Amino acid sequence: MSRDKTLIVANWKMNLNVGEASLYLHQLAKLVKSHRDVEVVLAPTALALQSLSLQVNSRQFKLAAQNFYWRDHGPYTGEISATQLRGIVQYALVGHSERRHVFHDSDKDIRAKVQAAIRNHIIPILCIGETASEHADGETRDVVHDQLVGGLANVTSEELEHVVIAYEPVWAISAGDGRGRADKPEDVTAVIRVIRNQIKHLYGPKAAESIQVLYGASVNPDNAAAFLAIPEVDGLLVGGASLNAHDFNEIIKKAHKGSGVAKV
Ligand code: PEP
Repeated sequence: MSRDKTLIVANWKMNLNVGEASLYLHQLAKLVKSHRDVEVVLAPTALALQSLSLQVNSRQFKLAAQNFYWRDHGPYTGEISATQLRGIVQYALVGHSERRHVFHDSDKDIRAKVQAAIRNHIIPILCIGETASEHADGETRDVVHDQLVGGLANVTSEELEHVVIAYEPVWAISAGDGRGRADKPEDVTAVIRVIRNQIKHLYGPKAAESIQVLYGASVNPDNAAAFLAIPEVDGLLVGGASLNAHDFNEIIKKAHKGSGVAKV
């Protein structure tokens, strides 16, 4: 992945049914002006991925899975594999805090999912971030370090070029344990520096400079510019505000370099 493109990812979570997702895409496609320096990714319900993949203009939007199982085939009732998603999605969220904390995805599961995505030519967006209590106890650096090392344990330098990291403090997510007290840009900067330092330690300075790191948690049209202006931030992962096509388009517009939002 190259940092030349700002990545704006919509995580619709368990919202919008197949028909609503299709209507939303139709509406968003009319609003969004494509720019070479911005990549827009939509993560709908798994049910809608197949139909949206046929409807979408892949030059305008890419698709992402919100989750998948790490085995490629077999007796895993109810699961969807990265092999089955291959060719339908270009990205997949891995280790989202709701997967970690509601569904108890372990570090081992997350590491295996990162591997499964890479093996199936899907770019994993590895989500990491501390809970409200970990934040209050000053454990942010340790949590981010452990989740990063855990998730990337088997990833080679070459594979890392096809991995995106998303820093999402759980306490700042609108449906998270702090109910969306938006983070401060200076604190985001500090944590993303910790992430890049850890990547430097694991993979060297070039990898630390080139890895794409997104910020997510309570991003909306009013605060998106402030987060995008942070030099360490290469894009946004948007939950609640991505459910409204007009709001999401306002966020997308701010990612384009000609929009007036300059890196500080
Ligand atoms: C998320 O959970 O991925 C997220 C970014 O949520 P929100 O924007 O609603 O805080």
